[in-house]
Amino acid sequence: MTHPAEEYDVLVAGGGPGGASVATFVAMQGHRVLLLEKEEFPRYQIGESLLPSTVHGICRLLGVSEEVENAGFVRKRGGTFAWGSGAEPWSFDFALSKKFAGPTSYAYQVERAKFDQLLLDNARRKGVEVRERCAVGEVIEEDDRVRGVRYTDSDGVERTARARYVVDATGNQSKLQRSIGGRRRYSEHFQNIALFGYFEGGRRLPEPNSGNITCVAFPSGWFWYIPLSDTLTSVGAVVRKECADRLRGDRAEALSAMIAECPIVAEYLSDAERVTEGRYGEVRVRKDWSYLHDTFWRPGMVLVGDAVGFIDPLFSSGVHMSTYSALLAARSINTALRGELGERECFAEYEARYRKEYQTFHDFLVTFYDINRDEQQYFEDAKRVTRDTAPAAQAFVGLVGGGASDEAVLTAESYRDKRKEDLHELSRGVHWEGHKIQLQAAFGEAADDVPLSADGLIAGQDGMHWERSGASV
Ligand code: FAD
Repeated sequence: MTHPAEEYDVLVAGGGPGGASVATFVAMQGHRVLLLEKEEFPRYQIGESLLPSTVHGICRLLGVSEEVENAGFVRKRGGTFAWGSGAEPWSFDFALSKKFAGPTSYAYQVERAKFDQLLLDNARRKGVEVRERCAVGEVIEEDDRVRGVRYTDSDGVERTARARYVVDATGNQSKLQRSIGGRRRYSEHFQNIALFGYFEGGRRLPEPNSGNITCVAFPSGWFWYIPLSDTLTSVGAVVRKECADRLRGDRAEALSAMIAECPIVAEYLSDAERVTEGRYGEVRVRKDWSYLHDTFWRPGMVLVGDAVGFIDPLFSSGVHMSTYSALLAARSINTALRGELGERECFAEYEARYRKEYQTFHDFLVTFYDINRDEQQYFEDAKRVTRDTAPAAQAFVGLVGGGASDEAVLTAESYRDKRKEDLHELSRGVHWEGHKIQLQAAFGEAADDVPLSADGLIAGQDGMHWERSGASV
């Protein structure tokens, strides 16, 4: 039996944070969106430590802040590092950065099965047609344009769906990304492998840092230690690829052996038991995650989230990058669907902004992996790569909180207001990236966004579209 093709404005493959966010941002503009997800939610995923930019920026825009607040996730005020040349562990608070100061100075440690379900349910409520257990197989191409996809539905029936745009948000394992052209470029710096499991009864840092992520360097790499509830902890070893042989035998034994080589984590887990049943019962391995696709879009199709790139688990940038890419791509799709600007210009803006954020995290992480330096040097590195005018420690927190892009919608309200004032003040004559300031002056005090280049676009007032900066006229 053949089924007629279904018609949508936008079709999203993959229902993780990237897919659910882009689908919601487009559906909220009144467009018809179909999201196809291979698994049935809730499903397991790694990536549990979030950043304030996601919790207070993206979740607010998605209209899901209250639910996230009430979900019972562990509050993360910052991070604690046993890392670098100093003998003592050191901590940072998100509150230190003006970008997150006040009521937005924390994030959450989340069980991804719950967090991702919450975002997907929200997508449904906001008008996205979500179908689970539907695996997208390939794109439909006509006249050099992607026009839809072929997928297998939950009854095993082959179907087609057509749309003006197809979004590949199928993550790290994406096969669809091959249809975009170009290829994934794997990082020469980050070629790590992760081995991770879950423990009941691990110790907590003293208050107020009990919800912090703890990262501890050890001879083969480093450990993450993420409190997911009062008693459940996610523990992972990220090791250099030269240590891959150590992961070949029994994974649980390999993890125990590595924990024994890391006195701080061994001590935290001295009274804990590894979970051996259910969703968290497996010791898992992940590798080949550090890459960036060299093509972001083609006519009718765009990559979002891990399908386009991921750097490294250190500093927990994955969900931030995925949902930030979803916001940027949604602006491009919404603008192109309205016919206000050409898709080439819209997707070029997405790509330029995403690449800038990716490069900033990437360059900082390259320097941070040198553990022979001290925290002050790391802070200076963050200031250098972000070109932030704030003191070094604040620049560091602004970056690792997800605020390097200076995207107004991802930062605290107080910071946004202050930034507007500063930009206005600076536009009166002081030279500070003078070019941008002139542009800012030209589109007025009310503008929240600054273009990346003279002919770049800016986010419209609703944050969901691109506009010309006006200054380029
Ligand atoms: P995903 O979450 O992978 O979602 C993709 C979805 O697409 C899945 O639900 C999948 O089932 C679906 N799908 C796949 N194929 C198809 C298909 N053919 N058809 C339909 N659907 C399909 N990030 C953080 O923010 N914090 C962390 O602490 C962190 N730790 C990490 C540790 C490790 C070891 C690794 C490897 C990554 C970590 N990350 C972390 C990164 C994080 O896991 C990802 O960046 C994030 O999950 C990306 O979200 P996404 O929506 O792009 O992709």
